[in-house]
Amino acid sequence: MICFNVPPCTGNEMKYIGEAIASRKICGDGQFTRRCSEWLEKRFDAHKVLLTTSGTTALDMASLLCELQPGDEVILPSFTFSSSATAFVNYGARLVFVDIRPDTMNIDETKIEAAITDRTKVILVMHYAGVACEMDTILDIARRHHLLVVEDAAQGVMSSYKGKALGTIGDFGCYSFHETKNYSMGEGGAVLINNPAYVERAEILREKGTNRARFFRGQVDKYTWVDIGDSFLPSELNAAYLWAQLELADEINNDRLRSWQRYKDAFADLAAQGRVKLPVIPEDCVQNAHMFYLKCRDLSERTALIKYLRERDILAVFHYVPLHSAPAGLRFGRFAGEDRYTTAESDRLVRLPLYYGLTKEDQDRVITAVRDFYGV
Ligand SMILES: *Cc1c(COP(=O)(O)O)cnc(C)c1O
Repeated sequence: MICFNVPPCTGNEMKYIGEAIASRKICGDGQFTRRCSEWLEKRFDAHKVLLTTSGTTALDMASLLCELQPGDEVILPSFTFSSSATAFVNYGARLVFVDIRPDTMNIDETKIEAAITDRTKVILVMHYAGVACEMDTILDIARRHHLLVVEDAAQGVMSSYKGKALGTIGDFGCYSFHETKNYSMGEGGAVLINNPAYVERAEILREKGTNRARFFRGQVDKYTWVDIGDSFLPSELNAAYLWAQLELADEINNDRLRSWQRYKDAFADLAAQGRVKLPVIPEDCVQNAHMFYLKCRDLSERTALIKYLRERDILAVFHYVPLHSAPAGLRFGRFAGEDRYTTAESDRLVRLPLYYGLTKEDQDRVITAVRDFYGV
């Protein structure tokens, strides 16, 4: 069986988890959390990175920092993971869904402005498959309308747009270190605070509404309850696992990129004949090979392809059911403008197995099976 995903493991995980245990510090914000967040800050030139318990809670923190009032609106794509939406609905927001671009499957930046009302507070962008949204245009719209920009960069760790790391471009960025992501800690994530004005409040929200972080830096002499918050910090055991991945981040990235390019080359003829569509990486974007997908002719061809691969012990999977047509999406939001691409393009998309350590032999089996399906 060729799995769709295998969680990354580089070999040093047990050693670092053992070190965390031996140090008698297994709660949050110990040496491994510090190493990971400092690495992320340095590598991505990020102002402040705080590890969280998941990508979802990183989005929750970003949402809390936006200080939404009930009825405030958040513009986002409908083609995204539910967490991008839940984080805002949790705090009373209404969702306004905007169509995607068919080339990158990202929010169509040219359709955002028409969706803005006097209740709009936030633009949430999601960098699908680790390929950046058109951020210059989006930041310009946000600036002109005084909106905050949150990047759901859950899939975008190690990707960049015009030389800037994804997650560091908007006011807040959110990473996921779930086992299905390029770098993992089982369950975990990080919130990036790019606007320095929000750092102190972010630390307080993450520490259950207390000023514990300032206390440990010696900036206040009592540690006290000062605001709302929650416990958003992950255990050192998880951070130790993540450290083993970050240490080898380039090796993981290169391995994934190699597999991604092999898929792309293997299906180039099918794409040239118009039988399938392959992912597009715009010129300004450096991607991280989070995902390799094909787009079939339509839903029935995709269903047949998934079944064909399954019968050959290969797990290929489709992706998001558009949020605006989901029960909660109907309840909490509306679609602004026409759904020209969101539903149609998501119906065609199938993701192929891609993970760190995917062997050439296994990948060749996937490639051969897909080509057999198309009779080439
Ligand atoms: C994975 C993912 C999340 C959620 O991350 P978790 O760590 O699983 O909570 C949010 N948004 C997107 C786009 C994702 O891919």
